[in-house]
Amino acid sequence: MDARPGWLYGGVNGTTIDSRTPLTAADRCDRCNAQAYVRVVLPVGELLFCAHHAREHAPKFASVATHVQDETDRLLAEHGAGPGSAG
Ligand SMILES: [Zn+2]
Repeated sequence: MDARPGWLYGGVNGTTIDSRTPLTAADRCDRCNAQAYVRVVLPVGELLFCAHHAREHAPKFASVATHVQDETDRLLAEHGAGPGSAG
Protein backbone atom coordinates (compact mmCIF):
# COMPACT_ATOMS: atom_id res chain seq x y z
CA MET A 1 0.00 0.00 0.00
CA ASP A 2 2.54 2.56 0.99
CA ALA A 3 6.09 2.94 -0.19
CA ARG A 4 7.93 2.11 2.96
CA PRO A 5 11.48 3.41 2.88
CA GLY A 6 13.17 0.08 3.47
CA TRP A 7 16.54 1.48 2.54
CA LEU A 8 16.32 3.78 5.51
CA TYR A 9 15.74 1.02 8.03
CA GLY A 10 18.20 -1.25 6.27
CA GLY A 11 20.95 1.31 6.77
CA VAL A 12 20.48 1.55 10.51
CA ASN A 13 21.54 -1.87 11.60
CA GLY A 14 24.12 -3.18 9.22
CA THR A 15 26.69 -0.78 7.98
CA THR A 16 27.82 2.07 10.18
CA ILE A 17 29.34 0.33 13.18
CA ASP A 18 33.02 0.71 12.45
CA SER A 19 33.65 3.12 15.32
CA ARG A 20 31.75 0.96 17.79
CA THR A 21 33.96 -2.05 18.07
CA PRO A 22 33.78 -3.76 21.44
CA LEU A 23 36.10 -2.57 24.14
CA THR A 24 38.86 -4.99 25.08
CA ALA A 25 41.29 -5.51 27.93
CA ALA A 26 43.74 -3.38 25.96
CA ASP A 27 41.46 -0.35 26.28
CA ARG A 28 42.38 1.55 29.41
CA CYS A 29 40.68 4.32 31.35
CA ASP A 30 42.16 7.71 30.50
CA ARG A 31 42.01 8.71 34.14
CA CYS A 32 43.28 5.76 36.15
CA ASN A 33 44.47 3.21 33.56
CA ALA A 34 42.04 0.55 34.71
CA GLN A 35 40.27 -1.49 32.07
CA ALA A 36 37.86 0.72 30.17
CA TYR A 37 34.21 -0.17 29.88
CA VAL A 38 32.87 3.08 28.46
CA ARG A 39 33.91 4.80 25.23
CA VAL A 40 32.90 8.42 24.87
CA VAL A 41 33.04 9.73 21.31
CA LEU A 42 33.54 13.47 21.07
CA PRO A 43 33.65 15.74 18.02
CA VAL A 44 37.41 16.02 18.52
CA GLY A 45 38.22 12.43 19.40
CA GLU A 46 37.29 9.88 21.99
CA LEU A 47 37.84 9.11 25.64
CA LEU A 48 37.87 5.82 27.48
CA PHE A 49 36.71 5.42 31.04
CA CYS A 50 36.41 2.67 33.58
CA ALA A 51 32.97 2.26 35.13
CA HIS A 52 33.98 4.38 38.10
CA HIS A 53 35.23 7.36 36.12
CA ALA A 54 32.45 7.07 33.54
CA ARG A 55 29.99 7.63 36.34
CA GLU A 56 32.06 10.43 37.81
CA HIS A 57 32.45 12.32 34.54
CA ALA A 58 29.10 11.50 32.95
CA PRO A 59 27.61 14.94 33.73
CA LYS A 60 30.51 16.58 31.88
CA PHE A 61 30.75 14.47 28.77
CA ALA A 62 27.02 13.81 28.35
CA SER A 63 26.45 17.29 26.94
CA VAL A 64 29.25 17.15 24.39
CA ALA A 65 29.55 13.48 23.44
CA THR A 66 28.28 12.43 20.03
CA HIS A 67 28.11 8.80 21.13
CA VAL A 68 28.54 6.92 24.38
CA GLN A 69 29.33 3.22 24.22
CA ASP A 70 28.53 1.83 27.64
CA GLU A 71 29.72 -1.71 28.28
CA THR A 72 29.54 -1.61 32.06
CA ASP A 73 27.02 -4.45 31.80
CA ARG A 74 29.97 -6.63 30.86
CA LEU A 75 31.80 -5.56 33.98
CA LEU A 76 28.95 -6.81 36.11
CA ALA A 77 28.69 -10.02 34.11
CA GLU A 78 32.41 -10.78 34.30
CA HIS A 79 32.77 -10.01 37.97
CA GLY A 80 29.41 -11.26 39.13
CA ALA A 81 28.82 -8.04 41.01
CA GLY A 82 25.19 -7.66 40.07
CA PRO A 83 22.75 -6.22 42.55
CA GLY A 84 21.89 -8.68 45.24
CA SER A 85 24.62 -11.18 44.34
CA ALA A 86 26.85 -10.47 47.31
CA GLY A 87 26.12 -8.54 50.40
ZN1 LIG B 1 39.16 5.16 35.80
